[in-house]
Amino acid sequence: MLDTVQEPLFAAHYRGDVKKLLAALEDEKTVTLVQCAPAVRVALGEEFGLAYGVLTPGKMATSLRRLGFDRVYDTNFAADLTIMEEGAELLARLEKNEGLPMFTSCCPGWVKYLEDHYPDLLPHLSSCKSPQQMGGVLFKTYGAELAGVEPGCVYSVAIMPCTCKKYECDRDGMDSSGFRDVDLVITTRELAQLLKHKGIKFAGLADGEFDQPLGAYSGAGNIFGSTGGVMEAALRSSLELATGVPLDSVELNYLRGGEGFRVAQVEHQGVQLKVGIVAGIQHVAPLLDKIQQGEADFHFIEVMCCPLGCVSGGGQPKTVLPQQRIHATQARKQALYRHDSGLELRKSHENPQIQQLYKDFLGAPLGEKSHHLLHINYSDAEHCGGDHE
Ligand code: SF4
Repeated sequence: MLDTVQEPLFAAHYRGDVKKLLAALEDEKTVTLVQCAPAVRVALGEEFGLAYGVLTPGKMATSLRRLGFDRVYDTNFAADLTIMEEGAELLARLEKNEGLPMFTSCCPGWVKYLEDHYPDLLPHLSSCKSPQQMGGVLFKTYGAELAGVEPGCVYSVAIMPCTCKKYECDRDGMDSSGFRDVDLVITTRELAQLLKHKGIKFAGLADGEFDQPLGAYSGAGNIFGSTGGVMEAALRSSLELATGVPLDSVELNYLRGGEGFRVAQVEHQGVQLKVGIVAGIQHVAPLLDKIQQGEADFHFIEVMCCPLGCVSGGGQPKTVLPQQRIHATQARKQALYRHDSGLELRKSHENPQIQQLYKDFLGAPLGEKSHHLLHINYSDAEHCGGDHE
């Protein structure tokens, strides 16, 4: 495995986004922040000879510090925040009985598909920014305030399993704080390549910690990386917040299949919801056609472009054989759920750092400040100004 090659030999071959990252890390006047998506920590180890699905958040935190990042935060924290906003939005739509079914909006490939092919259905799309963008805007506002740095000096990087996330970070409207929410997206593969070229032996690193408070997360935030994970995380919180009664079990196994389209009826304390989960963009058109014709009576639908969600994203480590790909993505998915079940904190609304964030900075979910910073009108924002190579 190529993990000890000296950096100067390869520096000339660094491409666009990796070059930009290195320039930011070398600039002493810049404060560099990084966030890591849930699906990255169950795949990055593969590039360094670890088995499929080995969970490596601690090694990831250490390796990012070795690269020179000033703060290492976590997209999982922002996933918990997304659930607070998206759950509140779902409950508001249910109360008014409008804009149903509500579609999730955390997959930029799906958002673009809807904009291009079914623009009349855009009012169904949640106005929430994705966890990547919510994390980005918070790091440059609340986070900058806590760290005592000027937001203009902050360079915010997201490590993602997804090439579409590069497009998302460059969309118009992703700058409601007055600064770009996220400055740069690096994929899992690009990070692995950079670590190898820097001679950082990932597999042998000691476990580090994420910086607090923007690195604290619940198991619900962690399962965002799998198909059905956003739905499960949202239901764990919204059903409990709507009824005041905890769920019998937070493990909603009936949402966890791998079929391209699956349906579930959910009941909790008299609240009844019909939900749909789409895994793989090729499965969405028949459903959207039915919604257009008024023949689908869903309340909430999760759509992810990739077959098993972000664990199988286009920026993840590649496998040679199709059978290896299936094995790898299944192992990554199982690792996310194992991580969730091993955590004490399983629900986004119980994350004490999220509660503190609302108390100290945001106010309430869907409040004025939250709406301004964390939501976007996707119907109005269709342009991308990116120049990625
Ligand atoms: Fe990106 Fe695929 Fe995840 Fe969508 S499902 S956000 S395209 S990795």
